[in-house]
Amino acid sequence: IIQALTTKLSSNEDSDWAEAMDAQLLRTITAALQARGTKCTFKEADALDNDPMKRALALANQGLSEVLTHLQVEIPQGYAVKGVKLKTGTQRTFYKTIKARKPIPQCMKTTIMLDITRHAAWNLSRSTPTDSQIWLSVRHKEITRTTRDFLWKCLHQAYKVGSHWRNIPNYEHYAICPHYQVDETMEHILLECNAPGREVLWNLAQELWEKGGCAWPEMDYSNFSAQFVVKNVVGFSDIFQRKKA
Ligand SMILES: [Zn+2]
Repeated sequence: IIQALTTKLSSNEDSDWAEAMDAQLLRTITAALQARGTKCTFKEADALDNDPMKRALALANQGLSEVLTHLQVEIPQGYAVKGVKLKTGTQRTFYKTIKARKPIPQCMKTTIMLDITRHAAWNLSRSTPTDSQIWLSVRHKEITRTTRDFLWKCLHQAYKVGSHWRNIPNYEHYAICPHYQVDETMEHILLECNAPGREVLWNLAQELWEKGGCAWPEMDYSNFSAQFVVKNVVGFSDIFQRKKA
């Protein structure tokens, strides 16, 4: 962050922060610093246990636990630097900036799943991950490719189950579970249905999991992705903790 705001500040502003994560936050910080009117200096902390550092860490933790949509990121009037500098821009920065201006269409089903996952992560760890933190967590390299695909599809509700079939002629009956006569959903298939095989598979999964020395967690569909999110964002998740021998 310090580099982005000092040595790399002018190149970041020239490219309209195209290469920066959290561009809007950095724009706001830059504007707030410029609005001070005097020279600002940064000092790298040499220890974490002094009072100012403790206060800063407490503020950072407080920020982490608040819902991120409440963050104030408006830039005071007269301090906004907008657009890419034509003289220094490259094809890459122009392309990125133009692409970023087009709003990404949000799918209602995905938005709902992201919010369910965020809520589950809050219950598990008292942190509220952003959408991009959720997406990055479920495609973390330590998760196998098949599981990554599965979590990604679950978050998009991309599997053809339940209501997907409701409007397809001659296949309407696929929308209902034949064992329970309820709406078929991924949650029902994985956790509720009494169709043959489901319980056997979970028992085998539990056996395998406990062989790794971890405690078997309570099954909750909203936690499936959230556990990975919590592990990657907060750095700790109960279910991956090995039991003490
Ligand atoms: Zn069923």
